[in-house]
Amino acid sequence: MHIVHIATELAPIAKVGGLGDVIYGLSKELVKQGHHVEILLPKYDCLQTELLSPIHIEYEGLWSFDHSPPTKHIIWSTTLDTLPILLIDPLIKENFFCRGVIYGCHDDIDRFTYFSRAALEYLFQTNKRPDIIHVHDWPAAIVPACYQKLYAPLGYQVGGTVLTIHNLEHQGRCSSFHLSRLGLENPKDPISEKMRNPHLLDQVNLLEMGIEYADQITTVSPRYTQEIQTPEGGCGLHELLQQKNDKLSGILNGIDENFWNPAKDSYLTRQYPTGKIKQKELATVLEGKQKNKTALRDQLNLGKSTAPLVACITRLVPQKSPHLIQHALFRSLELGAQFVLLGSSPILEIHEAFSNIQKEQKENLNLAILLHKDERLAHQIFAAADMLIIPSLFEPCGLTQLIALRYGTVPIVRATGGLIDTVFDIDTSLAPLSKRNGFTFEFPDPTGVNWALDRAISCYEKDPRKWDQLILNGMRMNFTWESAATDYLNLYKKVVDSRVGISS
Ligand code: ADP
Repeated sequence: MHIVHIATELAPIAKVGGLGDVIYGLSKELVKQGHHVEILLPKYDCLQTELLSPIHIEYEGLWSFDHSPPTKHIIWSTTLDTLPILLIDPLIKENFFCRGVIYGCHDDIDRFTYFSRAALEYLFQTNKRPDIIHVHDWPAAIVPACYQKLYAPLGYQVGGTVLTIHNLEHQGRCSSFHLSRLGLENPKDPISEKMRNPHLLDQVNLLEMGIEYADQITTVSPRYTQEIQTPEGGCGLHELLQQKNDKLSGILNGIDENFWNPAKDSYLTRQYPTGKIKQKELATVLEGKQKNKTALRDQLNLGKSTAPLVACITRLVPQKSPHLIQHALFRSLELGAQFVLLGSSPILEIHEAFSNIQKEQKENLNLAILLHKDERLAHQIFAAADMLIIPSLFEPCGLTQLIALRYGTVPIVRATGGLIDTVFDIDTSLAPLSKRNGFTFEFPDPTGVNWALDRAISCYEKDPRKWDQLILNGMRMNFTWESAATDYLNLYKKVVDSRVGISS
């Protein structure tokens, strides 16, 4: 199959969160299985180009459609490992992708609607006719509507479109002016009339347009697919999602088994096995984790200790319950454990709150707070920690619990979204004993956190056999891209087959 991803992140060259990991992991697996994959990405000035093969001009004949006089665009081509990448570079005065950041600009709507339309224009002009155009989250959600309304009428045909919602919270709300600028507002059939928010008349919602026009919609876990159809989890779109239920499904993310592999991880002080390990290999795992823990303690100036090391690796945004992370931090210290937080926040107040704790607790040898992004350190913490806490308000899939399981680090999670699809409480889950791999709590409040964290620390200290079983059960779980890619391929085939039905 020929699959084109239109996305705004790609790990590790342009990663903000899990979306980047998904585009990389899924694409790599599809290529491995013999499919032709191309990834269309903005040519950000902050791309980590040292990881790419030499970049060359692929196509120069693309002219803008929403500027007068028209200006030129360049499509660059390169590869990341085995992955073909096409970078869209607008030579326009706004310098959309020369901002040093991926998101967070005042004109994000313009930047990404421009990117979406230019990506489709490129496919059209070069007469590429992929079986599937797979778009991701609100920044590319306009593509299925553009395809159906602007390009299909010109005789341009692809197999079909798939939209993946990685996070429903972000929807790309904007005014109908943006649709006109894209050429989507046909006066005879105004699309914004249909998509208009009944409460805010001048507002359209780009993600909603994707939900309306994509042939299939996926989310990144089965549980999240259910949650977004409820008033509590639907971020205002639950009724629409209920109506579209027949084209909605959940495919659990995988993790890249090579990138996240303690047996080969070059960032670690001591590598150790994972996967379907035997009981007798456990000693090597524990020894490996201990060496990494000692090295991390030295690196972060933590004191020597026999107490458990609790970790949290996250974006510090409201979704991740920063107040509960703070609570877990102090509760861990109260219970005699050590705590490491690696978190970055785009929100100043949240950053400052943690920065203040960092200053106040400067002398505390049981606490390390690092408020930036650091891939190497993330790997080292996953390997060194005994537990990883994830108290999210909602979590579409979550990758950190999957990575933690693979590194023998026991997850403590709020029972929501992909977390509840992958973490099964050792004491309360109805799953078979061999699947129980962590601690969960229902309510996102301090009592909930205490209930799970206290049990985890007590289990670590008082019941080493049970703890060892938790590590083994977690490591033996298999969250690979191989299985997720099979599910995506089945969905792609369904889309193509149904389109063949439409066009014949
Ligand atoms: P989200 O996509 O909502 O941020 P996920 O759990 O799906 O959450 O993915 C988070 C990814 O980002 C993981 O690969 C995690 O290791 C990584 N990550 C989060 N915070 C940091 C950080 N401060 N430094 C390095 N990696 C981080």
